[in-house]
Amino acid sequence: MKLPLAALAALLAVPVAAQEPGADPPGSPADLIVHRAKVLTVDARFTVAEAVAVSGGKIVAVGSNADVLKRKGPATRVIDAAGKTVMPGLYDSHTHPTGAAASEAGEPLPLLKSIPEVQAFVRDRAKTTPAGKWIVIRYAFPTRLAEARFPTRAELDAAAPDHPVLYHAGPAGVVNTAGLKASGVTKDTPNPRAGQVVKDPVTGEPTGMLRNAYGVLKGVPGGGENLTAGQKRAALLKLFARYNQLGLTSIADRNAGRGDLDAYLALQRDNALTLRVNVARGFNPIGTRDELARRFDDLPGADGRGGPTGAGDEWVKIGPIKVFLDGGMLNGSAYMREPWPKGPTYQVTDDAYRGLLFIPPEQLKVLAEEAARRKWQLTAHTAGEGAMDVLLDAYEFADRMTPIKDLRFCITHANFPSRNNLERCKRLGVCADVQPAWLWKDGHTLLNVLGPARMRWFQPYKSWLDYTTVGGGSDHMLRFDPLDATNPWHPWLGIWVALTRNLERGGVLEPTEALTREQALRLYTINNAYLHHEERLKGSLEAGKLADLIVIDRDYLTCPVDAVKDTRVLLTVVGGRVVWEAK
Ligand SMILES: [Zn+2]
Repeated sequence: MKLPLAALAALLAVPVAAQEPGADPPGSPADLIVHRAKVLTVDARFTVAEAVAVSGGKIVAVGSNADVLKRKGPATRVIDAAGKTVMPGLYDSHTHPTGAAASEAGEPLPLLKSIPEVQAFVRDRAKTTPAGKWIVIRYAFPTRLAEARFPTRAELDAAAPDHPVLYHAGPAGVVNTAGLKASGVTKDTPNPRAGQVVKDPVTGEPTGMLRNAYGVLKGVPGGGENLTAGQKRAALLKLFARYNQLGLTSIADRNAGRGDLDAYLALQRDNALTLRVNVARGFNPIGTRDELARRFDDLPGADGRGGPTGAGDEWVKIGPIKVFLDGGMLNGSAYMREPWPKGPTYQVTDDAYRGLLFIPPEQLKVLAEEAARRKWQLTAHTAGEGAMDVLLDAYEFADRMTPIKDLRFCITHANFPSRNNLERCKRLGVCADVQPAWLWKDGHTLLNVLGPARMRWFQPYKSWLDYTTVGGGSDHMLRFDPLDATNPWHPWLGIWVALTRNLERGGVLEPTEALTREQALRLYTINNAYLHHEERLKGSLEAGKLADLIVIDRDYLTCPVDAVKDTRVLLTVVGGRVVWEAK
């Protein structure tokens, strides 16, 4: 929203710092004042103010320079922003920090951009790997290779004839001939539950493509490095510091085990957390109703910090349970309404292949019903449109027993909402966490595979906001670098993609779905707070809220749109404490 100058002046004339219960009494000195700033409060009216004061970790005043400076005492740190923009700290609603931090704690992971680079990497590893031992490349999405397709079994064979090789791209991946042999996978190997050992339609031999079927492989080493607890902790702190540098003050871990939660709690105990973590608890959705009930009962744990939704405090808080409903867009296993077109990108050879659904619809209904009854929020990884149909059916079913609107059930990824599903989300109060960087990185390949008609409804941010609340996230799982990571976690890239819908390999996808500056900022602040029932605590700069704010080097509202992605963060404050300051 751009305000006419007169309206802006009128707004600024009104003292916007309403005193709230819990805030300091007027007159007590602030710990920190940032003044002479352009303060984007991101409140309900998107008020622009001049200054903000912080005391005891909370915001105590937002308003004009003169009003806020009345809070200045002898010990107040006063920062003259010289016209710079101040805004709420950013929130990424989808990260996997413990895995991402561990992924490069040893050595940097290679960034493989083409099939020859994949082959060269495998060849190189083969030199130092004993024959018969696995060579594994993890979370390498074929959409991001120059050839925009999976490597074939033969291409992996050419690189390493004597070593088993797995090119893993999430739930789908390709194994070479030595890998199939070492695992005893043949034309007679049956498909596992909800998975496929893909066979050549002519010869019946396994092609090497496995979809949700890594269980048929023998001897594949686990993904985790052998790190000590101290190394894991140091890596996590390093990652959080990187997050702070780009303005993140809150993140959601979107699939945490108890060990991950304990890692955050340990940092909190030591006063070492530099951002706030909302923790989604990974949940096994398969089993009888009694088994699900026992799993729910076990989640809180002896200390009560593990659940249910909302348990914890402003630093480490429990979010939803998280389940995986279908495969992914970036490896051709998302569960679609229409078949995936045949072709080399995802090695689809079957006319009727629609992707993979991991949870039977009736089972999902039981899970949704039990979650709602126990006041747990629920979110499901839901990549394809067919999976979203199934998920919303289950949410509707649960809603008949226990209304879910206040629980804010969620859809994770939610790539393809149809108009009908948007209406269902509105009726049920269902939210979504979406990943703009996928549009940037993968939109081109997906457009080639699915065509423009099907891609019309790929991540339609504007339409989403007409119906319900969606928040921006990265799905960061590997590597530290904000742009080279899988997936890129650079929040300013995400904001810029929401503004432009630009594709990395050229072109724009459905520009009518682009957001305004105000909407894109909400996507990474207050909307994510809302997704996690935290909008009273954070997501905007208002008296009484947590003092999580950033100062940036450019005018977010008026700079050229392409300058948004290069935004530099000069200062990051979490709970009133400076956690990053550009030198
Ligand atoms: Zn994820």
